[in-house]
Amino acid sequence: MTEYIIYGVEIALIYLFLTVVYKFVKGSTGDSALRGVAIIFTVLLIGIYLVADTLGLYRIEKLLEKVVDYLFIAVIVVFQPELRRGLSRLGQNRVFNRLLAAKEDVIPKLVASIFRLARAKTGGLIAVERGVGLRNYVERGIEIDANFTPELLDSIFYPGNPLHDGAIIMRGSRVVAAGCLFPLTENPDISKRLGTRHRAGIGLSEETDALVVVVSEETGKVSVAIKGDLQQDLSRDQLEKVLRENMGTVVSVSAGESAIAGQV
Ligand code: ATP
Ligand code: MG
Repeated sequence: MTEYIIYGVEIALIYLFLTVVYKFVKGSTGDSALRGVAIIFTVLLIGIYLVADTLGLYRIEKLLEKVVDYLFIAVIVVFQPELRRGLSRLGQNRVFNRLLAAKEDVIPKLVASIFRLARAKTGGLIAVERGVGLRNYVERGIEIDANFTPELLDSIFYPGNPLHDGAIIMRGSRVVAAGCLFPLTENPDISKRLGTRHRAGIGLSEETDALVVVVSEETGKVSVAIKGDLQQDLSRDQLEKVLRENMGTVVSVSAGESAIAGQV
């Protein structure tokens, strides 16, 4: 155990020493020239080492073996900016993030946000994309593509916001567009009491397989349109159940990537 600690301290000291030397030399020669020299030097040493190894030049090989150990640390010091950039790019990588990031189920938050709108009697129209792409509607609205957060939903539908008119479109846990217009239903059986917001929600659910949540500004009631059918005045639990049954589990990943699991 102590052996490893000593080893770690040694490596840290060598790293520190090389960093200081590198900074000092860099100050006098300039970065790119120094890197060039570092690369040539490294390749040369490794080349000599390989030759010595094949020819059995024992002493040269032993000598270089030691140098190569330190060379590894030197490479880290010299190419630290590149390594750091590489690591941060890896951090932005979707696949990598899916493996690492903490996943969070979005549906409860979405339900809470929708009912906050309802309580405040703020009108809202939220289409959730499923199998049929809603790209046509996204393109005719204002494209956003942001991770869903309650604050985002609140600010979009805030009556003073230029985007509050029209609908938002969600794809997984992302809000992909706002200010979208949907086709109004022409179903004559729909109650005359329902205005354009509800009709637009029903209309989209007739044309696509999207699930559309409607929050009424007049009554503060929450309804859901699926396949041309409007389920009105849902409770929180009912809304959560409908979303769960139709969206599966929607998780948002901390770096902004969304995934839909178990889609029904
Ligand atoms: P509420 O119960 O909230 O009053 P409503 O069904 O009575 O809803 P309206 O009062 O006509 O509907 O709501 C008008 C709002 O509906 C508009 O300000 C706009 O935000 C939205 N809206 C109207 N037509 C469309 C459409 N085609 N696509 C998307 N949103 C629409
Ligand atoms: Mg109305």
